[in-house]
Amino acid sequence: MARSSPRKKPTVNYNEGEAPKPLARAVAKVKSLAAKATHKRKAAAEEADDGEVNGHSNGTPAAPAPKKRRTAKASKDEQGGMPLAERTAVASLKKAMYIGAHVSAAGGVQNSIPNAVHIGANAFALFLKSQRKWDNPAMTDEARDLFLHNCKEHGYDAGAHALPHGSYLVNLAQPDAAKADQAYASFVDDLRRCEQLGVRLYNFHPGSTLGDARPAAVARIAAQLNKAHRETSSVVTVLENMAGGGNVIGATWEDLRDVIALVDDKDRVGVCIDTCHAFAAGHDLRTPEAFDKTMDAFNDVVGAKYLKAFHLNDSKAPFNSNRDLHANIGTGFLGLRAFHSIMNHDAFRGLPMVLETPIDRKGPDGKSVEDKQVWADEIKLLESLIGMDPDGDEFLATAKRLQAEGVGERSKIQDQVDKKVAKVAKKAGGGGAGAGSKAKAKPKGKRKSKTETSDDETD
Ligand SMILES: [Zn+2]
Ligand SMILES: [Zn+2]
Repeated sequence: MARSSPRKKPTVNYNEGEAPKPLARAVAKVKSLAAKATHKRKAAAEEADDGEVNGHSNGTPAAPAPKKRRTAKASKDEQGGMPLAERTAVASLKKAMYIGAHVSAAGGVQNSIPNAVHIGANAFALFLKSQRKWDNPAMTDEARDLFLHNCKEHGYDAGAHALPHGSYLVNLAQPDAAKADQAYASFVDDLRRCEQLGVRLYNFHPGSTLGDARPAAVARIAAQLNKAHRETSSVVTVLENMAGGGNVIGATWEDLRDVIALVDDKDRVGVCIDTCHAFAAGHDLRTPEAFDKTMDAFNDVVGAKYLKAFHLNDSKAPFNSNRDLHANIGTGFLGLRAFHSIMNHDAFRGLPMVLETPIDRKGPDGKSVEDKQVWADEIKLLESLIGMDPDGDEFLATAKRLQAEGVGERSKIQDQVDKKVAKVAKKAGGGGAGAGSKAKAKPKGKRKSKTETSDDETD
């Protein structure tokens, strides 16, 4: 193809007529907010770690540090220093793409905003409470007011571009009555928090069958959603597609369709596509043709109007491997071309797009440190793809450089997958009890919500 212009496709509006709003302010006023963030931070130190989402869940911490990226800034970030990158005015982009990352809300939800400003994000995800504990204190009025204030101050429309992520503990497909009630209580509490914060979209993992029949599990999810919708007023519950394997629900478009089919209020349900999960589950996005095919299938099976958001992650694991390992943009098996397709797709304008890529880097002392410059750079990289000629030198050189950065991680995971496939095949061939499992590498089929030691992701 000579041009980057997207091929002729019927115009699909995933945003249900919502016009993307240009940012009121292009350049954020960082200082006052940063000071507030610091002030708030010390208050809730014990909650802090639980808000630090990404260090735990974004892939193997030993990823090699790209040359130009700084680690010194990471500690400065804790003090609320100058932004690592200025926010791009969305109105200045050729397409209104709102790109950000899953930032920390350590110390309170209000801190997600300075953290988003810090990396130049125009959209952001956060946890509304600890994602690994059942018991959490109620959100304070002060946290709510500061969140609302910070959004206003920095020109974030939380209704459109904040995408909280649900707890890893919650499984709405849970068959045990007491555990299902516990999951529901946590879920609906999050929805209420969203409504207090003016957040319209709430992203969560559909759940696990835990070995039960899939239709029954799907029906339980929908029933919980219906109940939650009745007990709240406006928030849209957004199902995330999953990488698959074992009992996980949501790796196929059909799973998502089946949940949505049983939801009474269709205005209150949607889908967030995680690009890494999609690819690992067998939805290809690598070439423009594959991207179109995958999106056509999504539109046919699920329906274009349900697409509400993206998680933008490359994949350390190969296609259809069911492994959930997020890679930095362009360094994984998806490659930069996939992200070029996304960034230039008109129908995705206005949707929140959230990075969940690894930012842990090895510090000089060998300890893992978060380098938020990685996200700042990735946001700018993705924005630069809008309107870029994918056959031009700039694109090709960048794609090549990033692929070279990821070669070690890709071959490491490819080896693991190959070994697993060989093992499964051998077992199947041997006629043992394990026969009948697909000759495909899979994670152990355990629930991942509690197995954070696994190196696979849960985002
Ligand atoms: Zn997730
Ligand atoms: Zn995700």
